[in-house]
Amino acid sequence: MKQLLFLLIVCAARLQAVETFETASGPVKITAVQHATVMIEAAGKIIYVDPAQGKIEGMPLADMILITDIHGDHMSQPNIDKIKREGTVIFGPPAVVEKMDIVNSIPNGQSKTWEGWTIEAVPAYNLTRGPSAGQLYHDKGRGNGYVLTFGGKRFYFSGDTEAVPEMLALKNIDAAFVCMNLPFTMTPQEAAAAVKAFHPAVVYPYHHRGSDLKAFEAGLKDSGVEVRILEWYPK
Ligand code: ZN
Repeated sequence: MKQLLFLLIVCAARLQAVETFETASGPVKITAVQHATVMIEAAGKIIYVDPAQGKIEGMPLADMILITDIHGDHMSQPNIDKIKREGTVIFGPPAVVEKMDIVNSIPNGQSKTWEGWTIEAVPAYNLTRGPSAGQLYHDKGRGNGYVLTFGGKRFYFSGDTEAVPEMLALKNIDAAFVCMNLPFTMTPQEAAAAVKAFHPAVVYPYHHRGSDLKAFEAGLKDSGVEVRILEWYPK
């Protein structure tokens, strides 16, 4: 009985982490795995964004993988090896391509198409924050956020960034996954202000370890943007 209860709780927790969006080409299911790691299922294909954290072992094999940056919480060759198969397509910015041998390059601002998806690389970088004066944690040009379009719906994954103009200029985003965490990216207040500016229908704070999500929610109160909190740090 105790085991059954445990199983039910585990199932409920798993279900909770899956968000489904209806599109003109069928449903898109998005699973919060951990931190910046996301799995997307649509039209029988499996896509991962930054499969670097969480229990990757035993998850469905990838048809496509998108990497945003060279840092270890985004790019992990051992975890990619667990989910890739022959024919898995991997996209990343040039800085990621330099470090891995099986990646197709998408520089900032460019786009690709794959199996009904359009993949747009949005610049992801710091404006001010860095390890020391004159240095940034994420230099402009190195990292990609992605806008993924499928069946007319547009999904944005910010990668590691501050509130850069390219993010503020995004249009018609149905669901946005937006980072926050100090010292590397943004405060929850900055993230909320950025989200208010590009105004997605729904926003999911992700990559938020240590951030005050109440402050993020407060920053978007009465904005018309729906904030959905998922479990990104399962125990
Ligand atoms: Zn990161």
